[in-house]
Amino acid sequence: MPDRLSIVRRNLHRVQQRIVEAAAKAGRDPAEVTLVGVTKYVDAATARLLVKAGCQDLGESRPQELWAKTEMLSDLPVRWHQIGHLQRNKVDRTIKTASLIHTVDSGRLLAAINSSAARQSMVAEVLLEVNISGDESKHGFAPDDMPDAVANLGDLASVRARGLMAMAAREGDAEVARRNFARLRELRDELQSSLSDRGSLAELSMGMSGDFQEAITEGATIVRVGSALWEGLD
Ligand SMILES: *Cc1c(COP(=O)(O)O)cnc(C)c1O
Repeated sequence: MPDRLSIVRRNLHRVQQRIVEAAAKAGRDPAEVTLVGVTKYVDAATARLLVKAGCQDLGESRPQELWAKTEMLSDLPVRWHQIGHLQRNKVDRTIKTASLIHTVDSGRLLAAINSSAARQSMVAEVLLEVNISGDESKHGFAPDDMPDAVANLGDLASVRARGLMAMAAREGDAEVARRNFARLRELRDELQSSLSDRGSLAELSMGMSGDFQEAITEGATIVRVGSALWEGLD
């Protein structure tokens, strides 16, 4: 039996290889794609193995888990990503802990992040989450509400929106996922032209273990991969 570090290392290399292949097929530079290793399934000791194997961007769904793992891995040079729903009462600590909040899904949350960041004399980096599939169970701005959300950004001096985030429809095959991702990219392009030089929505956080190659084909700059990195561990 290979040890746990070898298993994680092998999984990471496979995922990285698939990123390189998908980028090559799309005529993109794989260096444009950041892999966020999603650690929500594993404990801090196992997450540590992934950093050791070479992945320095880690993502957590639940803010409390993000805070806990950040403390336990504070000796490592990790950039943490908040990738799950964020409640307003957890904003203060989460914006201090995470380098990027992927899941800003309402104007109220955006305003709460802005005032918390102002109070803490910092600028919070965020992505706006879009409910691109229209699944009722999903969080995120409706695509039609995005022009207003982006127009509001100009008034929020302590938030910097870097781009958009979405998940593909829960029900559906690779082709459906790909259409969802294409739609997010098109929406981003429209919003970017309305912003002109008042900010850049360069980042597209889309793609998980089951569909990250489709996401890269459609322009993902950040993929959030969990299960594929932990295969073969008990
Ligand atoms: C869990 C999770 C992921 C990773 O999903 P896998 O299918 O395990 O790769 C990515 N993004 C979000 C928002 C998640 O909650």
